[in-house]
Amino acid sequence: MELGGYVIAIDGPGGSGKTTIARSVAMELELPHLDTGAYYRAATVAVLRAGIDYEDHEAVAALIRVVELRYDRGRMLLDEEDVSEAIRSEQATLAVSAVSAVPEVRRLMVQAQRNWVAERGGSAVVEGRDIGSVVFPDAALKLFVTARPEVRARRRAGEVAGDQELIEQDLARRDTIDSTRAVSPLQHAPDAVEIDTSDLSVDEVIARVLTLVAATR
Ligand code: C5P
Repeated sequence: MELGGYVIAIDGPGGSGKTTIARSVAMELELPHLDTGAYYRAATVAVLRAGIDYEDHEAVAALIRVVELRYDRGRMLLDEEDVSEAIRSEQATLAVSAVSAVPEVRRLMVQAQRNWVAERGGSAVVEGRDIGSVVFPDAALKLFVTARPEVRARRRAGEVAGDQELIEQDLARRDTIDSTRAVSPLQHAPDAVEIDTSDLSVDEVIARVLTLVAATR
Protein backbone atom coordinates (compact mmCIF):
# COMPACT_ATOMS: atom_id res chain seq x y z
CA MET A 1 0.00 0.00 0.00
CA GLU A 2 1.38 3.43 -0.94
CA LEU A 3 1.12 5.89 1.93
CA GLY A 4 3.90 8.46 1.31
CA GLY A 5 3.83 11.33 3.83
CA TYR A 6 0.90 9.88 5.71
CA VAL A 7 0.74 10.62 9.45
CA ILE A 8 -1.91 9.27 11.77
CA ALA A 9 -1.97 11.29 15.02
CA ILE A 10 -3.44 9.52 18.04
CA ASP A 11 -3.91 11.58 21.19
CA GLY A 12 -5.60 10.82 24.47
CA PRO A 13 -5.08 10.30 28.18
CA GLY A 14 -3.34 7.34 29.85
CA GLY A 15 -5.25 4.06 29.86
CA SER A 16 -7.49 5.16 26.96
CA GLY A 17 -6.09 2.38 24.80
CA LYS A 18 -4.10 4.58 22.44
CA THR A 19 -0.88 2.57 22.60
CA THR A 20 -2.65 -0.71 21.77
CA ILE A 21 -4.50 0.98 18.93
CA ALA A 22 -1.44 2.80 17.59
CA ARG A 23 0.63 -0.41 17.59
CA SER A 24 -2.02 -2.49 15.86
CA VAL A 25 -2.87 0.13 13.25
CA ALA A 26 0.83 0.66 12.49
CA MET A 27 1.32 -3.08 12.05
CA GLU A 28 -1.77 -3.38 9.87
CA LEU A 29 -0.64 -0.52 7.59
CA GLU A 30 3.06 -1.43 7.78
CA LEU A 31 3.93 2.01 9.09
CA PRO A 32 6.47 2.85 11.81
CA HIS A 33 4.96 3.52 15.24
CA LEU A 34 6.20 6.29 17.52
CA ASP A 35 5.22 6.41 21.19
CA THR A 36 6.07 9.99 22.14
CA GLY A 37 5.29 9.33 25.82
CA ALA A 38 8.47 7.22 25.85
CA TYR A 39 10.51 10.37 25.07
CA TYR A 40 9.02 12.32 27.97
CA ARG A 41 9.47 9.33 30.25
CA ALA A 42 13.14 8.92 29.22
CA ALA A 43 13.76 12.62 29.78
CA THR A 44 12.25 12.13 33.25
CA VAL A 45 14.56 9.18 33.98
CA ALA A 46 17.53 11.37 33.00
CA VAL A 47 16.34 14.15 35.35
CA LEU A 48 15.76 11.73 38.25
CA ARG A 49 19.14 10.07 37.78
CA ALA A 50 20.90 13.43 37.71
CA GLY A 51 19.18 14.30 40.99
CA ILE A 52 17.85 17.55 39.54
CA ASP A 53 14.79 19.19 41.11
CA TYR A 54 12.29 19.05 38.25
CA GLU A 55 10.81 22.38 39.30
CA ASP A 56 14.18 23.91 38.35
CA HIS A 57 13.34 24.47 34.68
CA GLU A 58 16.72 25.94 33.79
CA ALA A 59 18.61 22.91 35.12
CA VAL A 60 16.16 20.45 33.52
CA ALA A 61 16.46 22.20 30.15
CA ALA A 62 20.28 22.26 30.34
CA LEU A 63 20.35 18.51 31.01
CA ILE A 64 17.84 17.54 28.31
CA ARG A 65 19.77 19.59 25.73
CA VAL A 66 22.82 17.33 26.17
CA VAL A 67 21.34 13.84 26.65
CA GLU A 68 20.71 11.64 23.64
CA LEU A 69 17.23 10.14 23.39
CA ARG A 70 16.51 7.61 20.69
CA TYR A 71 13.39 5.55 20.01
CA ASP A 72 14.09 2.45 17.98
CA ARG A 73 11.60 -0.34 17.22
CA GLY A 74 9.68 0.05 20.44
CA ARG A 75 12.77 0.44 22.67
CA MET A 76 13.78 3.72 24.29
CA LEU A 77 17.48 4.53 24.55
CA LEU A 78 19.00 7.18 26.82
CA ASP A 79 22.62 7.87 25.88
CA GLU A 80 22.64 4.45 24.17
CA GLU A 81 21.39 2.64 27.31
CA ASP A 82 18.10 0.75 26.92
CA VAL A 83 15.78 2.35 29.51
CA SER A 84 12.54 0.76 28.23
CA GLU A 85 11.85 -0.76 31.66
CA ALA A 86 13.08 2.18 33.76
CA ILE A 87 10.72 4.59 31.99
CA ARG A 88 7.73 2.57 33.27
CA SER A 89 8.80 2.73 36.94
CA GLU A 90 6.47 4.29 39.49
CA GLN A 91 9.03 7.01 40.19
CA ALA A 92 9.20 8.01 36.52
CA THR A 93 5.41 7.86 36.19
CA LEU A 94 4.99 10.17 39.20
CA ALA A 95 7.42 12.78 37.86
CA VAL A 96 6.77 12.65 34.10
CA SER A 97 3.94 15.19 33.90
CA ALA A 98 6.02 17.82 35.74
CA VAL A 99 9.04 17.28 33.47
CA SER A 100 6.76 17.33 30.39
CA ALA A 101 5.43 20.73 31.40
CA VAL A 102 8.88 22.38 31.02
CA PRO A 103 8.60 24.39 27.76
CA GLU A 104 12.20 23.74 26.65
CA VAL A 105 11.74 19.99 27.17
CA ARG A 106 8.68 20.10 24.92
CA ARG A 107 10.50 22.09 22.26
CA LEU A 108 13.33 19.54 22.16
CA MET A 109 11.01 16.53 22.18
CA VAL A 110 8.79 17.90 19.40
CA GLN A 111 11.87 18.51 17.26
CA ALA A 112 13.16 14.97 17.90
CA GLN A 113 9.78 13.44 17.11
CA ARG A 114 9.40 15.34 13.83
CA ASN A 115 12.93 14.29 12.83
CA TRP A 116 12.13 10.67 13.69
CA VAL A 117 9.19 10.64 11.27
CA ALA A 118 11.08 12.58 8.57
CA GLU A 119 13.97 10.07 8.73
CA ARG A 120 11.45 7.29 8.05
CA GLY A 121 10.04 8.92 4.93
CA GLY A 122 7.36 11.07 6.55
CA SER A 123 4.76 8.38 7.24
CA ALA A 124 4.00 7.02 10.72
CA VAL A 125 1.46 6.35 13.41
CA VAL A 126 2.33 8.78 16.20
CA GLU A 127 0.71 8.72 19.63
CA GLY A 128 0.83 11.17 22.50
CA ARG A 129 -0.96 14.16 23.97
CA ASP A 130 -0.18 16.98 21.51
CA ILE A 131 0.38 15.17 18.21
CA GLY A 132 -2.67 16.41 16.27
CA SER A 133 -2.53 19.87 17.84
CA VAL A 134 1.21 20.67 17.83
CA VAL A 135 3.63 18.03 16.52
CA PHE A 136 1.76 17.13 13.31
CA PRO A 137 -1.06 19.66 12.90
CA ASP A 138 -1.33 18.60 9.22
CA ALA A 139 -1.71 14.87 9.97
CA ALA A 140 -3.92 13.10 7.44
CA LEU A 141 -5.96 11.53 10.22
CA LYS A 142 -6.31 12.70 13.83
CA LEU A 143 -7.87 10.60 16.53
CA PHE A 144 -8.70 11.53 20.09
CA VAL A 145 -9.03 8.35 22.11
CA THR A 146 -10.85 8.36 25.44
CA ALA A 147 -12.38 5.96 27.95
CA ARG A 148 -14.26 6.37 31.21
CA PRO A 149 -11.94 6.92 34.22
CA GLU A 150 -12.74 3.60 35.90
CA VAL A 151 -12.12 1.71 32.65
CA ARG A 152 -8.76 3.43 32.19
CA ALA A 153 -7.75 2.62 35.77
CA ARG A 154 -8.81 -1.02 35.37
CA ARG A 155 -6.69 -1.37 32.23
CA ARG A 156 -3.65 0.20 33.87
CA ALA A 157 -4.10 -1.96 37.00
CA GLY A 158 -3.99 -5.00 34.71
CA GLU A 159 -0.76 -3.79 33.08
CA VAL A 160 1.21 -2.73 36.14
CA ALA A 161 -0.43 -4.91 38.80
CA GLY A 162 -1.31 -1.97 41.05
CA ASP A 163 -4.23 -0.92 43.21
CA GLN A 164 -7.04 0.27 40.91
CA GLU A 165 -8.18 3.12 43.15
CA LEU A 166 -4.66 4.53 43.54
CA ILE A 167 -4.09 4.21 39.80
CA GLU A 168 -7.35 6.07 39.13
CA GLN A 169 -6.14 8.88 41.41
CA ASP A 170 -2.75 9.01 39.67
CA LEU A 171 -4.35 9.09 36.21
CA ALA A 172 -6.62 11.94 37.34
CA ARG A 173 -3.61 13.79 38.75
CA ARG A 174 -1.66 13.43 35.49
CA ASP A 175 -4.74 14.39 33.41
CA THR A 176 -5.02 17.63 35.37
CA ILE A 177 -1.33 18.53 34.90
CA ASP A 178 -1.31 17.43 31.24
CA SER A 179 -4.51 19.33 30.41
CA THR A 180 -3.72 22.57 32.21
CA ARG A 181 -0.03 23.16 31.42
CA ALA A 182 0.77 26.39 29.58
CA VAL A 183 2.55 24.84 26.60
CA SER A 184 0.72 22.37 24.32
CA PRO A 185 -1.73 20.83 26.82
CA LEU A 186 -3.58 17.60 26.13
CA GLN A 187 -6.48 18.76 24.03
CA HIS A 188 -8.95 17.52 21.52
CA ALA A 189 -7.87 19.06 18.17
CA PRO A 190 -10.99 20.49 16.49
CA ASP A 191 -10.50 18.20 13.48
CA ALA A 192 -9.81 15.02 15.51
CA VAL A 193 -12.27 12.14 15.47
CA GLU A 194 -13.13 11.08 19.00
CA ILE A 195 -13.31 7.38 19.83
CA ASP A 196 -14.54 6.30 23.26
CA THR A 197 -13.07 2.82 23.72
CA SER A 198 -14.85 2.05 27.05
CA ASP A 199 -17.32 -0.42 25.58
CA LEU A 200 -15.47 -1.50 22.45
CA SER A 201 -13.13 -4.43 21.90
CA VAL A 202 -9.66 -3.77 20.48
CA ASP A 203 -10.75 -5.33 17.17
CA GLU A 204 -13.79 -3.05 16.98
CA VAL A 205 -11.64 0.03 17.53
CA ILE A 206 -9.08 -1.08 14.92
CA ALA A 207 -11.84 -1.75 12.39
CA ARG A 208 -13.21 1.74 13.00
CA VAL A 209 -9.77 3.32 12.57
CA LEU A 210 -9.08 1.40 9.35
CA THR A 211 -12.40 2.61 7.94
CA LEU A 212 -11.33 6.19 8.73
CA VAL A 213 -7.92 5.53 7.11
CA ALA A 214 -9.62 4.27 3.95
CA ALA A 215 -11.66 7.48 3.82
CA THR A 216 -8.62 9.77 4.14
CA ARG A 217 -6.33 8.24 1.53
O1 C5P B 1 1.59 8.07 27.14
P1 C5P B 1 2.27 7.98 28.49
O2 C5P B 1 1.31 7.73 29.63
O3 C5P B 1 3.44 7.06 28.51
O4 C5P B 1 2.86 9.44 28.71
C1 C5P B 1 3.49 9.77 29.92
C2 C5P B 1 3.42 11.29 30.14
O5 C5P B 1 4.22 11.96 29.17
C3 C5P B 1 2.05 11.92 30.05
O6 C5P B 1 1.32 11.84 31.28
C4 C5P B 1 2.39 13.36 29.70
O7 C5P B 1 2.74 14.09 30.87
C5 C5P B 1 3.65 13.23 28.87
N1 C5P B 1 3.42 13.31 27.43
C6 C5P B 1 3.30 14.58 26.88
N2 C5P B 1 3.17 14.72 25.53
C7 C5P B 1 3.15 13.65 24.72
C8 C5P B 1 3.25 12.34 25.26
C9 C5P B 1 3.37 12.21 26.63
O8 C5P B 1 3.32 15.57 27.60
N3 C5P B 1 3.05 13.84 23.40
